[in-house]
Amino acid sequence: EDFDIIELIQNTFDLLEMRAAKKEVSLTFDMNYPNPIYVNGDKEKIQQVMSNLLVNAIKYGLPKGTAEVSVEDLIKNKVIVRVTDNGAGIPKQHIPRLFERFYRVDQSGSRSEGGSGLGLAIVKHIVEAHGEKIYVESEVDVGSEFSFTLEKTSAATKTLNKEEKSTIGSN
Ligand code: ATP
Ligand code: MG
Repeated sequence: EDFDIIELIQNTFDLLEMRAAKKEVSLTFDMNYPNPIYVNGDKEKIQQVMSNLLVNAIKYGLPKGTAEVSVEDLIKNKVIVRVTDNGAGIPKQHIPRLFERFYRVDQSGSRSEGGSGLGLAIVKHIVEAHGEKIYVESEVDVGSEFSFTLEKTSAATKTLNKEEKSTIGSN
């Protein structure tokens, strides 16, 4: 299954618009990419990944802060999707455990926000089930950046697959 990651990001923004507005967080999309980018994967599951990361960026971000998404080409046929906030950041000692189920950072900002500590465990599970990777970089008082990779389905690859199939079919 392939889908347009740009459209999926726009849809996720639309779904979270009210939630962001309540905290006066602006959702921004680094629009170097006006065109569709087709990627391989389970659209609903990747939507869940985007949503979990963006909800975190809104929840743990500063009021009147920003949550920014960008998509960039990586080596070969990969793209990397980044979700960046300018919130409180995460102290280094917590980073290795962030993706564990039920793990929450014991920090005033975090505790005042509800949550079960499952969001990132789900994100990691989905990304790894796609054979891809999730990364986090964070600095206290500066903010956090969560990023994950996806495999592109180029127009060329799609055409090639069709040709391969018809060759096999005609044999
Ligand atoms: P849930 O997502 O299940 O509602 P949650 O947000 O607490 O609950 P996770 O999304 O797994 O759970 O995040 C785990 C913890 O990591 C959070 O409780 C928070 O302390 C920290 N965290 C996650 N994202 C950020 C972020 N963008 N900035 C600062 N801290 C974060
Ligand atoms: Mg969460």
